Amino acid sequence: MRIATLVVGDELLNGEISDTNTAAMGRALGKLGCRALEGRTIADSEESISATLQELASRYQVVLVAGGLGPTRDDLTARAAGRAFEQRLVLNDEALESIRTFFQEQRLEMDPRNEKQALLPQKAIPLANPAGTAPGFVLTQNSCRLLFFPGVPAELEAMLECHLPPLLDEWFGDRPPMGERVLKIFGLSEPKTESMIESQPLPEGVTIAFGVDHPFVHLKLRAAGDDWEERLDQTEVSMRKKLGDFIVARERETLAQNVAAMMKQSGLTLALAESCTGGMVAEWLTAIPGASTYLDRAAVTYSNQAKNDWLGVSKRILHEHGAVSEFCARAMATGLRQATRTDITLAITGIAGPDGGTEDKPVGTVFIALSAGDAEQAKRYTFGGTRDQVRRASACMALEWLRR
Ligand code: ATP
Ligand code: MG
Repeated sequence: MRIATLVVGDELLNGEISDTNTAAMGRALGKLGCRALEGRTIADSEESISATLQELASRYQVVLVAGGLGPTRDDLTARAAGRAFEQRLVLNDEALESIRTFFQEQRLEMDPRNEKQALLPQKAIPLANPAGTAPGFVLTQNSCRLLFFPGVPAELEAMLECHLPPLLDEWFGDRPPMGERVLKIFGLSEPKTESMIESQPLPEGVTIAFGVDHPFVHLKLRAAGDDWEERLDQTEVSMRKKLGDFIVARERETLAQNVAAMMKQSGLTLALAESCTGGMVAEWLTAIPGASTYLDRAAVTYSNQAKNDWLGVSKRILHEHGAVSEFCARAMATGLRQATRTDITLAITGIAGPDGGTEDKPVGTVFIALSAGDAEQAKRYTFGGTRDQVRRASACMALEWLRR
């Protein structure tokens, strides 16, 4: 199947933002056993978009286009498509209805300008957008199918997921069946993960690949053939035997989602004291609906003063052991527990860098402590990488403490 992708936007060419949509389209195609032969980027110019669409339509069977479907004057893709294929733009009733419904569901007022998003080339077939206002659409030009999607990455991904598989099935029914499953691993490097699963034989037709989404390693299981799903199930079971608790999520799940689900189910309450993570754990957990069922509060206690004032960490501990110490982490967790009377408290204190490291406590030194029941535990970690990577690894490790 001859496929090309096209992303539209001045901001992609002037360095304002990096293109992630070409990769998203590539991944979505890859999951279906297809790949693009060419990926273009084009400026917000009706003439150039139109000429590029004509050219790609004459050379490819499928063209995926992302961007420029919004309501503002710089969104020119629908007009350019109409111009390229000599179709008038008409107000598409189905598209207009879906835009109206979206605004109603989001309890937002619709700007008359949003109606523009329902102005589609005459022969366009609209594609529902589950994540935003701009509907996508399909055009057929001779032997080419052109699919138009919005540029906002989350909207594009949601639309690729729901529309691409059935459309490719409809047009090219004899696609070889195949699938991929992603297992997300935390606490092991790529080589370590590989060495742990090396001795595990893979079912026939199954291959594995690795990827990193710091601090996670993604183990990608791929299988082709009619029974690919069964073979992936079988492979997942055998990978879980080897990797056990290091697998923290699968597919689109996240570690935070899984921890949130467990906390909700447990009926326990939680309070957080965060220093070097600055509220990251609280942000991740509160981003998931239902956090109020278990999360009582989160204190960002960055200075020594705050650790003393809010959590009752003694001046002696801060003075003798320092704010980045096992003693301090324990005192943060127990102090918060006394103050909140929650079932569990979790404390994080560390040196995220790039400055502030010493010989015995280098950058990346992080202490995590947990207080629950009559017990309290603390542990020291050394995380590598940039400030951002240290902070993210610390927050993930804190979530891991709740998961285990
Ligand atoms: P909107 O309704 O937001 O205008 P649209 O379909 O017109 O949607 P664009 O205007 O092209 O889409 O892009 C909207 C936003 O999505 C951009 O400002 C940018 O932040 C992001 N975006 C667009 N294209 C890409 C891309 N190729 N890679 C990453 N981000 C992108
Ligand atoms: Mg736009």
